[in-house]
Amino acid sequence: MSIHELNAPYEQDPTYQMAVKQLRDVAELIGLSAEVVEVLRHPEKLIQVRVVVKLDDGRLATFIGWRSQHNSALGPYKGGIRYHSNSTAGETVALSMWMTWKNSLAGLPYGGGKGAVRVDPKKLSIRELEELSRKYFAAIAKEVGPDLDIPAPDIYTNPQVMAWFLDEYSKISGYNAWGVVTAKPPILGGLKAREISTGYGVALVAREASKRALGGFDERTVAVQGFGNVGSYAALYSAQWGARVVAVSDSQGGIYDPKGLDIVKAIEVKSKTGSVINYEGAKRISNEDLLELGVDILIPAAVENVIREDNATRVKAKIISEGANGPTTPEADKILYDKGVIVIPDVLANAGGVAMSWIEWSHNRMGCILTDEEALSRLDKLMTQNFHRVYDEWQRKYLDKPMRTAAYAIAVDRVVQAMKLRGWI
Ligand code: NAD
Repeated sequence: MSIHELNAPYEQDPTYQMAVKQLRDVAELIGLSAEVVEVLRHPEKLIQVRVVVKLDDGRLATFIGWRSQHNSALGPYKGGIRYHSNSTAGETVALSMWMTWKNSLAGLPYGGGKGAVRVDPKKLSIRELEELSRKYFAAIAKEVGPDLDIPAPDIYTNPQVMAWFLDEYSKISGYNAWGVVTAKPPILGGLKAREISTGYGVALVAREASKRALGGFDERTVAVQGFGNVGSYAALYSAQWGARVVAVSDSQGGIYDPKGLDIVKAIEVKSKTGSVINYEGAKRISNEDLLELGVDILIPAAVENVIREDNATRVKAKIISEGANGPTTPEADKILYDKGVIVIPDVLANAGGVAMSWIEWSHNRMGCILTDEEALSRLDKLMTQNFHRVYDEWQRKYLDKPMRTAAYAIAVDRVVQAMKLRGWI
């Protein structure tokens, strides 16, 4: 065994291995030593807790949860907490590493963290869910805090869960610790604009990329796959900023009108009937067809791995703004790059949520009140500047590689610089 081979319990996890492979590829590109990779591939701290919930019928249920604190060179750890029956320690570590890169790329004063409880929350009553949330947060309370580690929602956690976290932490610490979690309900220091922010950012980077690569955003045609939180706001703001959204879809299928869809109407139809396919006056198309439409901009905002080796050659869009996490496989990424398609990677395109969390957190700490307009205008400025910074550096230093590679190189390099300045490496 070489001196570098640690055998941490999460090493065999496939998601973790994927994150490490990505890190090694970037390390080669920017010339990081094996020793530094070894430092970066492990979290600074991985906390595992046992949470016992007394169920409504009197039985006891035991759950395992984690908080992975990957890197704090750039600031307090920041990242969501998810409730999922497939969560593992390895996946949580991988997600926390990705948060380090995402926060670094977004230029935020945060390191990366992520938490999870291995549970199917749909099987719990509201009271059981509250008990689970309070006990999990109490178990990690000494390890989190407004200056230490600031969680937020992720899969199957929401502003209500954040309110329970906030309350539990405030009881333990003896003061109202507004800044300990973000994406709180607005009445408890959250921002209404948080709901909009990821989709807003996804549309914003598509808008800025169109200005750079297509000569403008006006009348550019857009197709959006997935009409949930991210996709519906990405479609709404694309339309508001002058583009023509010609297709949208959800899990039941898609709709297409080359003259442009009325997005406000599509949102109404989705909320009243459960699916956009009930929108009248547009052609019905499949989710596969949507990806291959002759549009200028494609926004995948549903699930991962939808643009693959088998369909990437048929994608006609000139710009792809990744709303979903991981919608493009590595093989497809290469095909698209060779075709000259600009893929704005998820780590850059969908950072609007965490950027809005930073706006919420910094205002909580100053005791300030912010209107939605002010919050969105700050988000717009932050993400616009950030997009152009990354785009410029891609053009200057890494143009022979996809933008995703450039984004990771910039993100990892920034963390390494901070670690060097602190004397860690
Ligand atoms: P959501 O549940 O609100 O919406 C998902 C939408 O996708 C729904 O309309 C659903 O019908 C549709 N869908 C599901 N499977 C589909 C399929 N196979 N084909 C087409 N449509 C399908 O979820 P969301 O919060 O909008 O998240 C979407 C993606 O964005 C996820 O990958 C998520 O990880 C990522 N993301 C979300 C946020 C956020 O702040 N919500 C932040 C960063 C990344």
